[in-house]
Amino acid sequence: MSFDGKHVVITGGGSGLGAELARQFSTQGARVTILGRRLEALQEVATETGALPLTCDVTERDSLDLAIAKARAAQGTVDIALANAGAAPSKAFEQMEVSDFSDALGVNLLGVFNLWQACLPGMKAAGWGRLIAVASTAGLKGYPYVSGYCAAKHGVLGLTRALSVEMARTGVTVNALCPGFIETPLLENSLELIVAKTGLSREQAAKSLRRGNPQDRFIQPGEVAAAALWLAGEATGSVNGAALPISGGEI
Ligand code: NAP
Repeated sequence: MSFDGKHVVITGGGSGLGAELARQFSTQGARVTILGRRLEALQEVATETGALPLTCDVTERDSLDLAIAKARAAQGTVDIALANAGAAPSKAFEQMEVSDFSDALGVNLLGVFNLWQACLPGMKAAGWGRLIAVASTAGLKGYPYVSGYCAAKHGVLGLTRALSVEMARTGVTVNALCPGFIETPLLENSLELIVAKTGLSREQAAKSLRRGNPQDRFIQPGEVAAAALWLAGEATGSVNGAALPISGGEI
């Protein structure tokens, strides 16, 4: 699969799945731009992949718009926009502050809206584009202690489905990936929290999360990136409004 001549923007490109997406798209010839808040993390991935690193906070529209303008000036119209930035803070519903809930919606849902709205005009003008969100199995089912995250990821699927219909005749497709637990820094944070809250060992905590996947394993970033490349390709123009589970059969 070749992405020669395509410009891919990946939010949260400085770590975990975003870094793997940058690796795979670069390897396939794309011009890659990675966005995130920590310049140092972005620069490490940029050195490895040749991606353009730009700092921005996806929850702040001005910051995101400025980064997209710089990306466009340096690498051309954005052809593929991958909304991957996310965070999964964990708290019992009854202990949550309003700010916990709005923070979860901010990065996981508003961040997708901001990226897609900033990139869409160029795609429509070109008559071709791919809007892809990294949602989660948490967009398809509930998990305890992450109600804000689940609400946001369910919202991402609603946004994906509505926009896919709205854009159906423009050459732009809109899809979401729904991975189960992936081995990344986000998962490591969740494990640390479980260890701190329950007194379980790290291995016991990992075992309890792995058990949710019928294949009894964590998903690798490369497996999710492979699905993103497939959705972004020329051959999948009729895949639109999909919420693709990558979960070993969990859902
Ligand atoms: P990760 O390594 O923690 O990556 C999250 C990225 O998002 C970081 O690079 C972070 O960079 C960026 N980010 C967070 N808040 C941001 C903000 N306000 N503005 C810009 N960038 C922001 O975790 P990951 O597992 O690769 O997560 C990638 C995506 O996969 C997320 O959407 C997550 O919900 C989803 N997912 C993960 C799992 C899993 O088990 N790991 C399962 C299903 C879905 P900065 O801190 O530098 O901003």
